[in-house]
Amino acid sequence: MQYISTRGNAPVLKFEDAMLTGLARDGGLYVPETIPTLSHADIAALSGLSYEEIAFRVMRPFIGDTFTDEEFADIIAKAYAGFGHAARAPMVQLDSNHFLLELFHGPTLAFKDFAMQMIGQMFQVALSRRGERVTIVGATSGDTGSAAIEAFKGLDAVDVFILYPHGRVSEVQRRQMTTPSESNVHALAVDGHFDDCQARLKDMFNDFEFRDGVRLAGVNSINWARVLAQVVYYFSSAVSLGAPHRKVSFTVPTGNFGDIFAGYIAKKMGLPIDRLVVATNQNDILHRCLTTGAYVTDQVIPSISPSMDIQVSSNFERAMFDAYGRDGAAIGQLMAELKQGGFHISQGILEELRSHFDSGRVSEEETSAQITRSLRTHAELLCPHSAIGVEVAERLRTSTTPMITLATAHPAKFPDAVEAATGIRPPLPERMADLFDRSERVTRVGNDLEALKAVVLERINK
Ligand SMILES: *Cc1c(COP(=O)(O)O)cnc(C)c1O
Repeated sequence: MQYISTRGNAPVLKFEDAMLTGLARDGGLYVPETIPTLSHADIAALSGLSYEEIAFRVMRPFIGDTFTDEEFADIIAKAYAGFGHAARAPMVQLDSNHFLLELFHGPTLAFKDFAMQMIGQMFQVALSRRGERVTIVGATSGDTGSAAIEAFKGLDAVDVFILYPHGRVSEVQRRQMTTPSESNVHALAVDGHFDDCQARLKDMFNDFEFRDGVRLAGVNSINWARVLAQVVYYFSSAVSLGAPHRKVSFTVPTGNFGDIFAGYIAKKMGLPIDRLVVATNQNDILHRCLTTGAYVTDQVIPSISPSMDIQVSSNFERAMFDAYGRDGAAIGQLMAELKQGGFHISQGILEELRSHFDSGRVSEEETSAQITRSLRTHAELLCPHSAIGVEVAERLRTSTTPMITLATAHPAKFPDAVEAATGIRPPLPERMADLFDRSERVTRVGNDLEALKAVVLERINK
């Protein structure tokens, strides 16, 4: 299994190197050269298996010889051992044909734990075998950073630096990043938006002297290994509703397009998925693109669903790569246009994208109203991101195909928005109830590449 860049101009890598590298050296994203498929019988055989067993069977074809079967089973077992629910990704029924996939039972209460816990264990095994050490730098709108710090804290082969937009993450998110005391994890509060953090992260990766000097590794949602770990719950949930014997659809609260792209991979692998529905908040570049063909950036408007407050959806490049017939030069051209503000895709490409993806946009008022309504009619307390998913799913679902909406975070991670809509302040699960009593450790940094590089160099050379 080989991995190629979406811009067609970086070395072809095997899984281990694609995972440890993150962003390709031509600025592109790694994707598998071919997508392995599971047969109808393979998928049917997943029925009744544990989450861990399904994870093994779904991911195994992608990892080549990076891990032995024993190592890989052990990695999966360790990754999910800390989850607060035996099913890992349980489902509840909202309506006759509408289901909620709860992806918030991990250590930081959001779906990013599914991938990050896997990556932590995979890095640990791969790096200790190589006798190497890396510097992980990630940009976060909140949930990635806490998941990464939780997954990597205390591992001896890595230093972790997380860039988050100062003042624009929830208090629970911030505390999850700033309270771990392990000396190999560092929370950096950047003066800017998430897109600034993401841009500075890309700058660091494109500074090859720095990148090689500190052995930079990325674990943002551009890392292929993260996408891969997220493919698993599309299979586990669809199979529990009768796949492959019947089709299902998914609605996914979307920001960087990583989670829903994992659904697209599941479909390519043979899972019978009817529609993949992109649900956005008021930062709706994806909804505008899928509606009009114009992928044009705009100001980020802070919302009550901050983990989706982005304007450039990095993983959309992977979907575009396929839609453009895997033409890396064409993608390189589009991404150059994006730097000037945006690009327009042709009718044919748009139709190709629309053959997989639908979309909907939810305003702030509609988000709050859905939180209120879900509590009243379904007795479900939703986080704002999940409410956006449920709202769009209710608009677009049909009576014939089951709809699975991804609940991407626990309501206690965004208590202010939930309390404003319902009057109920959702408590943290007991295992993290002392979060507000722990002391914080954070470094404030300007939105400036040189300043960030200096902080990283100083900390890792101590
Ligand atoms: C990251 C995140 C999203 C968006 O996921 P993408 O993979 O970036 O599209 C949605 N909801 C929550 C709670 C998140 O943390």
